[in-house]
Amino acid sequence: MAVPLVCEYSMPPLFNLLRLPPHFRVLDVTQSPAGIRIVLASEVPSASCPRCLISSTSRHSTYTRTAQDLAWSGQSVTFQVVTHKWRCRVAQCAQRVFAERLDPLLRRSARMTTRLIDLVCSVTLATSGRSAARLTAHITPALSPTTLVRHIMTLPEPAIFPAHIIGIDEFSFRRGKPGQGHHFGTIIVDLERHRVLDLLPERDVVSVAAWLRNHPTIQVVSRDRSGTFAQAITTALPEAQQVLDRFHLLQNLRDVLERFFLTKRDVLRQMRHPPMPSSPPPSARLPEHQSQDERVARWVQIHQQIHDLVAKQVDVTTIARRLHVSRPTVYRYLHMIQPPSVKHPSVRRTLDPFIPYILQRWNEGVRNAQLIWRELTNQGYTHSVSNVGRFVKQLRQETALPLKFKHVLPASLYDVTIAHAPLAFSAIQVARLVVRHPERRARREQEYLERLRTADDQIEGVCRVAEQFCQMVRLRQGERLDAWVTAAQSTALRSFVMSLLKEENALRAGLTQATSQGQTEGQVHKLKLIKRQGYGHAGFALLRQRVLHANSCSLALGK
Ligand SMILES: [Zn+2]
Repeated sequence: MAVPLVCEYSMPPLFNLLRLPPHFRVLDVTQSPAGIRIVLASEVPSASCPRCLISSTSRHSTYTRTAQDLAWSGQSVTFQVVTHKWRCRVAQCAQRVFAERLDPLLRRSARMTTRLIDLVCSVTLATSGRSAARLTAHITPALSPTTLVRHIMTLPEPAIFPAHIIGIDEFSFRRGKPGQGHHFGTIIVDLERHRVLDLLPERDVVSVAAWLRNHPTIQVVSRDRSGTFAQAITTALPEAQQVLDRFHLLQNLRDVLERFFLTKRDVLRQMRHPPMPSSPPPSARLPEHQSQDERVARWVQIHQQIHDLVAKQVDVTTIARRLHVSRPTVYRYLHMIQPPSVKHPSVRRTLDPFIPYILQRWNEGVRNAQLIWRELTNQGYTHSVSNVGRFVKQLRQETALPLKFKHVLPASLYDVTIAHAPLAFSAIQVARLVVRHPERRARREQEYLERLRTADDQIEGVCRVAEQFCQMVRLRQGERLDAWVTAAQSTALRSFVMSLLKEENALRAGLTQATSQGQTEGQVHKLKLIKRQGYGHAGFALLRQRVLHANSCSLALGK
């Protein structure tokens, strides 16, 4: 049974607590297991006709609207608003009767208060329709993902200020039915205000130019080397300064270098096997190989025994107990016709180039795998500590020293002068290496690059001008462009140079101006995250809504 809490006609503190607009009055509050019900009355002396906008004082009738408000102490809150219909007395107006507007508390025909809708929209924007449906179940009666998405779709577009410096880039998205593949859209970012201005569902000259024409305040456009954007900007805003983005310039150079190194595959392959000074003494390679062989021998033995026992009709549980293996192992081995062989040979290969260093540290008395691993990561080793740990464990067993020693006296236990074959670098890896900042190359990579450059004159020439180009881009040394062009034209990068010169103005601007596409890339990254949260059947329109509102997620909290 509902218990009346407040029966007084007027109660200012409650009115304040509810933050109601001034012309509302609280008539009644009741609490029941279903939640709190608050009866409000709208007390306006007149209302404006929505058609002729002329105020009317002639009341037609009284009726009640019901709407959900923000939950209160974990209880749902329902407003019952007593409101009115009014007559329009203007003879020429077609509207005879109209309902009073309760904005901003309650929008027209809404079943939730505006502040509850804002909160629900914030949650939906920050998550997805489905997650929001689960989360908001605690604060509202159940809302379906479709309803939530509909609320997002009706959000007004955020206010846009005239932009002056923008970045433009493409992004991929899936639209239409599954299996139709990806399409490319255009993302436009205000580089001064750090926000997405718009998403376009296409990436073609016509639609991009149309958008740009509607934004004539734009003076500077940062773009990648795509001809589409260049043409669209030239068509729509011929006065605007185009700036080639430095990130894309380096990316472009990397692609060109990869194609170049693909023509040099024979040289790359030769580099893999440098002349070995002598054959490796067995001691350095022995430990892991030996234990590996022992392990494989045991696997083969178990495999044989399992198949023999099954042939003798022994059940799996008994086999497992007798051979000291688990039952899943028995089942797995039963499915293998051939006995198992060496697993993951690649694990060892990743460590190979670093073995001389490990042996050297071992000779110096270091016994701490963690420490050695940390030192290796500084040299460009990217794999886990456990690989190093396994190798060190083999050395420990071979050297027969107790586990607890982290340091012992130096002793010349291993020959470290063995030249181990380095990993083969692919064309793309070498291209990345050349573009990478020299200070961020590992010593091993730097040495490799130096050897590669001395091996082939053409490679030396290309690497030299490529590194100069990277430096010019990174330090924005546009004044060095002419000298660089002269030098680079005589190398295999000639066609890259020619293509750059076709957009010389934009290139020079990119090499001198501070404008950076960096945050456009950041926005594309953010867009990808939003995309992964799903944008369902509403497709591109919802994706756009979510991206444009991504910066204004706190609208519900009055910020
Ligand atoms: Zn009217």
